[in-house]
Amino acid sequence: MEQERFDLPQLGQDSSRTYRLGIMGGTFDPIHNGHLVAAEQAYDDLNLDLVVFMPAGSPAFKQGKKIASGEDRYAMTLLATSDNPHFVASRFEVDRPGITYTSETLRLLKEHYPQNVELYFITGADAIADIVRWNNSASIAKNATLVGATRPGYNLDKAAGAIDSSGIDFHVIYLEVPALAISSSYLRERVAKGQSLRYLTPDSVTGYLHKHQLYGAKAGKYAR
Ligand code: ATP
Ligand code: MG
Repeated sequence: MEQERFDLPQLGQDSSRTYRLGIMGGTFDPIHNGHLVAAEQAYDDLNLDLVVFMPAGSPAFKQGKKIASGEDRYAMTLLATSDNPHFVASRFEVDRPGITYTSETLRLLKEHYPQNVELYFITGADAIADIVRWNNSASIAKNATLVGATRPGYNLDKAAGAIDSSGIDFHVIYLEVPALAISSSYLRERVAKGQSLRYLTPDSVTGYLHKHQLYGAKAGKYAR
């Protein structure tokens, strides 16, 4: 793969050490503080070198649902991560045609980076239980360590049980993220009702989604 075709961060230059790259995948429709806090905590607790946020192009599990364009979701992700030196937003998935499979993303990243770069795929603990059903999950297990951020109301037994019964040797690290019940759906509902998004997502994201009238936002009405 030619490096210049991708906006991936440089990593792995010093062959005498190991690098840890966090990958935060999601629809990010829109990105919110739950995503940002989970990624920041993973960065700290797991000693990651960087966390790359990759909005999905066409998420496998959101087929048939109306989502904001990849361009808008990427722009909001870029805005939300821009003030954090160890967060990077990437077009890697948005620019890939067809359904976005995490297995394919991780395989391509593994191919792109030298061997001393380890991948940590950060996801909500709720998604961990589903991963065993994802396309080519054995390849996910081979290429990355899964980091399951706990979300309120989620019982870890379900994820652990699903992994155990999958027969696949997943490496999973659970991360207790302080009670954050924020979700993109909640933000979309609030925007449609003209309610405030302040402290739920960075103000730059709120500004963008109003300016572009996403999620039923009224033009000019900065409800925050
Ligand atoms: P939606 O409400 O539309 O499903 P979402 O808030 O779950 O959106 P996604 O883009 O689907 O956002 O999530 C991307 C990843 O971030 C998923 O792995 C999800 O489990 C995780 N995640 C989402 N919200 C939180 C949160 N508040 N705390 C920790 N992880 C989260
Ligand atoms: Mg979700």
